[in-house]
Amino acid sequence: MISTFSSNNADWIARDLASLWHPCTQMRDHPHPIPLLPIVRAQGCWLEDVDGKRYLDAISSWWVTLFGHGHPAIVAAIAEQAAQLDHVLMAGFSHPPAIQLAERLLGLVGAPMSRVFYAEAGSAAIEIALKLSFHYWRNLGQPGRRRFVVLDKGYHGETIGALSLTSVSLYREAYGELLLEPLFAPSPDSRLAEAGESAAAYADRCADQLALILAEHSGDICALVLEPLVQCAGGMAMYPASYLQRVREICDRHQIHLIADEIAVGLGRTGTLLACDHARIRPDLLCIGKGLSGGTLPLAAVLAPESIYEAFLGEFGSGKAFLHSHSYTGFAIGCAAALATMDLLQTAIEGGALDHKVTRLRSALTPLVDHPHARNLRQCGLIAAVDLVDRSGAPFPAGQRRGLAVYREALARGVVLRPLGDTLYMLPPLSISDEEIALMTTAAVQSMEAACA
Ligand SMILES: *Cc1c(COP(=O)(O)O)cnc(C)c1O
Repeated sequence: MISTFSSNNADWIARDLASLWHPCTQMRDHPHPIPLLPIVRAQGCWLEDVDGKRYLDAISSWWVTLFGHGHPAIVAAIAEQAAQLDHVLMAGFSHPPAIQLAERLLGLVGAPMSRVFYAEAGSAAIEIALKLSFHYWRNLGQPGRRRFVVLDKGYHGETIGALSLTSVSLYREAYGELLLEPLFAPSPDSRLAEAGESAAAYADRCADQLALILAEHSGDICALVLEPLVQCAGGMAMYPASYLQRVREICDRHQIHLIADEIAVGLGRTGTLLACDHARIRPDLLCIGKGLSGGTLPLAAVLAPESIYEAFLGEFGSGKAFLHSHSYTGFAIGCAAALATMDLLQTAIEGGALDHKVTRLRSALTPLVDHPHARNLRQCGLIAAVDLVDRSGAPFPAGQRRGLAVYREALARGVVLRPLGDTLYMLPPLSISDEEIALMTTAAVQSMEAACA
């Protein structure tokens, strides 16, 4: 009989495995070979399990934690807001945190964005963006536009619409028959450049192919959807900003919306407010989420320009109004958490703290340069990744699950690194200290060496 008052890891693990169903998990892998960690508290970059062991959260708890866990300013904002106004429906009602956050986001992102539509999850934001784009063209008398263009290796979430835009086969394969059929364009992933070809030249070649697809199908297409600069779930595939500039120009030429999914890469992760800032472009629809609430509450948003917003204005009954009404849209506590988070983000960017961390991470990665087991070392802002290879430089057979071995080795060293297949990456909170960066990268190198031996 399992006690209700159990107080050690083993008890909670047993109770979990008797009652829960975990995401992205073959449940038979628990607790062996994949351990299950019951966490009872978290502070800053650290998680603490029931038995009191601490782990450095080097992946921001699936890329959401922006300024560490339990940040006092965010916690206070949540507590105050919960006591003041928890939630009110957003149809016919409004409230200061939703208004203030919209003003704040629009101020940060700048022209041409002028409208904010709230969602609770990243995938909901993607659903909203794709419905907005389709409905926009319909309102303009072009209902034949119903297809989307996406990049190979792209990931945009796992609800049916968002999954339709996701190329990563791990997520898509089982559900293929249920999904919309997008047009797939080649990934500009710099690792795919041919021998002797520069990353920029390869990206240019991909842009040329994209242009051909758009030219051939432009009358059927609503939008191109992509993750700017880093295709995260697709294996931390990085590509040059020049590709985004080409994409902006190609989409303009064919009058197709560019939807930037900055749910993972936005809000400071790449060293700037948005990944699009590296290319000095703005998309037609911008999706943000994950870190928006600092990683405390599910909150996401779609930003749109007035030109799209105005296409939805019309007589009552004209069918022009945008219909998407999730229960918790614009919930006040989430907006309050996001406002506090945006204060921290603005300070980190303007005060230079973020630049400092990016530089610090770059030098801490030195042991991975030319390391025999690390191929394709890459960094974009505070995101870094390498691919594990054997002594001959070849990938390991997937069945050996070396990435999983890294995960276990890193946990033993008190660091959470959760490779994507055999791609080892770090995506720490922006608030990570210099000492924690050193600890994280040292553990990464040691865990990789132990797992590849
Ligand atoms: C995580 C993610 C999503 C989905 O966000 P959820 O909040 O998990 O629904 C969409 N796009 C990208 C690029 C992501 O990384």
